Amino acid sequence: MLPQNDIRAAALPVSAEEISVLLAGAQPFRRREAFALLSSLSPHRRLHLHEAARLLLTDDPMVWETAAAAARAMREEIFGRRIVLFAPLYLSNECGNSCLYCGFRRENREARRITLSPEGAAAEARFLERKGFHRLLLVTGEHPLRTQPGYIADVLRAIYRETGMRILHVNAAPMSVADLRTIKEAGAGVFQVFQETYHPETYAAMHPSGAKSDYAWRLTCMDRAIEAGFGDVGIGALLGLYDYRFEVLSVIRHAGHLLDTFGTFPHTISVPRFKKAFGSPLSAAPRPVSDAEFERTVIVYRLSVPSAGVVVTTREPAALRERVLDIGAWQISAGSKTDPGGYSEGVRRHEAEQFEVDDTRPMEEIVRMVLARGYLPSLCTSCYRRHRTGDTFTEMAVDGHIRDFCLPNALLSLAEFALSTEDAALREECLAAVREAKREMEGSPMLPEFERKLAQAMEGGRDLHF
Ligand code: SAM
Ligand code: SF4
Repeated sequence: MLPQNDIRAAALPVSAEEISVLLAGAQPFRRREAFALLSSLSPHRRLHLHEAARLLLTDDPMVWETAAAAARAMREEIFGRRIVLFAPLYLSNECGNSCLYCGFRRENREARRITLSPEGAAAEARFLERKGFHRLLLVTGEHPLRTQPGYIADVLRAIYRETGMRILHVNAAPMSVADLRTIKEAGAGVFQVFQETYHPETYAAMHPSGAKSDYAWRLTCMDRAIEAGFGDVGIGALLGLYDYRFEVLSVIRHAGHLLDTFGTFPHTISVPRFKKAFGSPLSAAPRPVSDAEFERTVIVYRLSVPSAGVVVTTREPAALRERVLDIGAWQISAGSKTDPGGYSEGVRRHEAEQFEVDDTRPMEEIVRMVLARGYLPSLCTSCYRRHRTGDTFTEMAVDGHIRDFCLPNALLSLAEFALSTEDAALREECLAAVREAKREMEGSPMLPEFERKLAQAMEGGRDLHF
């Protein structure tokens, strides 16, 4: 691990000192000031870092109500009404690190350790494919021998070879450019690493040993990922370890660094919040983040990094997940298991889980809930296949062009899901939503081609997209 002085001196994407100074000097907004600012925001005029600091210090509920409405409008302007659904696939809970908050840490002697073989991972993916998922997030612990980049690449190849899965994203340890190339070449879509905490002293306390104790190696990982050819990267902070305002501002600064350096915002920003994990020494979050603060975090990310997909997982309770759909969340996981092999296994195995999932509703119920709230569940993966990634995606999103593709693609993927589900009532609900939303395409030059593709999908055609 770099000594503290070196961390400060090294050219890092985020300077903790800058964020601390910004936060210490910021003043809350007065109501009228906030209203004037919020009404001026658009994909071309996002919330700046110093404004985000002021907003996060503002406690006026009316300001937050207005900010929530602005976040929702921003999301709809960029992505329309669709909500992307995905599932995590845990490959291994073996780990050489000692993160105080995680059940996979190497000191947890009670954990039942499992690393899936590439074939075992493909069996899990097949299970999820039958549920209707086409995109998965592969998640793995950091074992110095068993979860190396070559293993992750083998898993990627096995799943693509043996299933119809269309895109696989990866959340794993920070790697060298050469290792990142290895998994990119095997077909990884988005590469995700969360900094956990951007506060160096808290980082050192939470990661006392193992490869992960290197703060700077982790923080510079996305620069290496983009150099290795990843157009799309995902960042985030684990909420609950340090002052959430500091973490939110740091994530926005990190996103700004990627835009300034590579012309691309991160594809996703995740908002994992601390959950008590089986066999970990932290029984509670050191700096708990309330539901209201969680919502504010989603709002500020949406307004500050408009083109990023804000990802909310099943760590969060059902009611909160539903609320954040209305304030800017864009991607949600569904029906998740956090123990390797857990989908095929079918029964809960606390001793192999990373943390306890809160929203345990199955995929079908999540689809129903998304529809009932007036959104369109989307299982679309077309941007990756049509190379709308990285700086191209950021530009198209900010200019409002991604939405033109999102609606027809969401509808085609929803029609495909409807025809594959065994739940007849849900099938009807989905098809009714497709028919109704199709009206929004009146006058679009894409309509004739969309109708042709939709007719093909209704005949059992798969993977139809623009
Ligand atoms: N081992 C890799 C790493 O640490 O980056 C990737 C997998 S790790 C299982 C994925 C993420 O889970 C971590 O980055 C962390 O943010 C999150 N996580 C770990 N323990 C958690 C907990 N107790 N509650 C909520 N999220 C947790
Ligand atoms: Fe290992 Fe990641 Fe868990 Fe840390 S968070 S113990 S690195 S799996």
